[in-house]
Amino acid sequence: MTASTALPSSACPRCAGSTVTTGLPRPWCPSCDWNLDQATPVLFGWRWVDRRLHRVAARLTDAQFAALAEGPLSPRTVTAARVTTLVAAAVLLAGVLAIAVLGVWLIFFDFFSLSTVLGAVLVGVAYLVRPRLGRMSDLAGKGIVLGPDRAPRLFALVERVATAVGAPLPQVLMIGYDLNAFTTAVGVRRTRVLCVGLPLWATLEPQERVALLGHELSHFVNGDVRRGPLTQVAETTLGRVAHLFGDDVPVGNGLVAYVTAVLTRALGRLVSGTARALQLLLVWTSLRDSQRAEYLADEMAARAAGTRAVVGLADYLVTRESIGTVIRREVRSGNGMSAWHAATRVARANLAANLPLLRRLTRQTEVSLYASHPPAGLRAEMLERRPGQAAAVTLTESEAAHIDDELAVHQKRVLRELAA
Ligand SMILES: [Zn+2]
Ligand SMILES: [Zn+2]
Repeated sequence: MTASTALPSSACPRCAGSTVTTGLPRPWCPSCDWNLDQATPVLFGWRWVDRRLHRVAARLTDAQFAALAEGPLSPRTVTAARVTTLVAAAVLLAGVLAIAVLGVWLIFFDFFSLSTVLGAVLVGVAYLVRPRLGRMSDLAGKGIVLGPDRAPRLFALVERVATAVGAPLPQVLMIGYDLNAFTTAVGVRRTRVLCVGLPLWATLEPQERVALLGHELSHFVNGDVRRGPLTQVAETTLGRVAHLFGDDVPVGNGLVAYVTAVLTRALGRLVSGTARALQLLLVWTSLRDSQRAEYLADEMAARAAGTRAVVGLADYLVTRESIGTVIRREVRSGNGMSAWHAATRVARANLAANLPLLRRLTRQTEVSLYASHPPAGLRAEMLERRPGQAAAVTLTESEAAHIDDELAVHQKRVLRELAA
């Protein structure tokens, strides 16, 4: 989707209002949503199913927005999503443990017989679907780990922002390759990781960078169920079960082998299908909680950066695709961070007049049962609806430039990754 400017428009066939072509290939009507359907995300590929699920997601998204815009926005400890996840994780862990114990028992039940083989298979299955909590090495391809001595000004800024939002410091700070930023916790000891994509960092305005750090650091304290170890265990275990039993066993020669293979396949599909369905249910439930956590992280970010800067960040995300195109163009020409920033400023100025329409459009394109974030347009509106906050941390142009100098050594590496 590229954001083109509105052409001389024709009248809407439904409400006779003016149609626009902003952001979409065919005209649509901002007054009555006529033809906005062309931007409905594809989930399953069956149009009527996709439309229906989109309507469900839109209703949930709107209801959540209305409830949060009016009421208090604070971390919640007990939610339906949390309870569901907890129960699912407990059942799954008990299940895996039961399979392992049964396997060991079978191995020694009548050594060495058919039951020994069966026991060994069960132990193998339990091992393959064992719960995992992520490792630092999983993140290796996502960016470069920074040491405090190499980027003291950035570390100092992170510390100021963390204090302002009341979040603990990340134990690992990474510079990423994408137009993105994320926080996560890995391993049994839940090591806190903050990864800031250099393309995103370099093209935000200084105060919006404070907003970005504020938002990301808030995820360490806003009680997001998706980041909890239990969710990780529940979802990855189900995913592994589905994957393990989804593979068809080869059909052997002879009638007995054939019947065995067909039965095993049917059983495998049943287990795999059930695991997939449970995973889907769990994902859909926990993602509602996750969207709430995103609004809350924005609200906390406003405490550090001021409401205006966080709205700026949300509006940047509204136009992210166009900005991405601009950055890729600069990368292809071999230009570095300052050129990305200059080009992004021009693009954002050009898109400014269309922002209300582009914000509206995200409420169609970014609404989904699979969305971990609310539509960027709604995030901006949520901040505008709630009481404004002043900045506790300010980052001047020159301070931002000093941080850019610290990060410039990684530019070449990021350019290489972006070009590939
Ligand atoms: Zn209309
Ligand atoms: Zn977030």
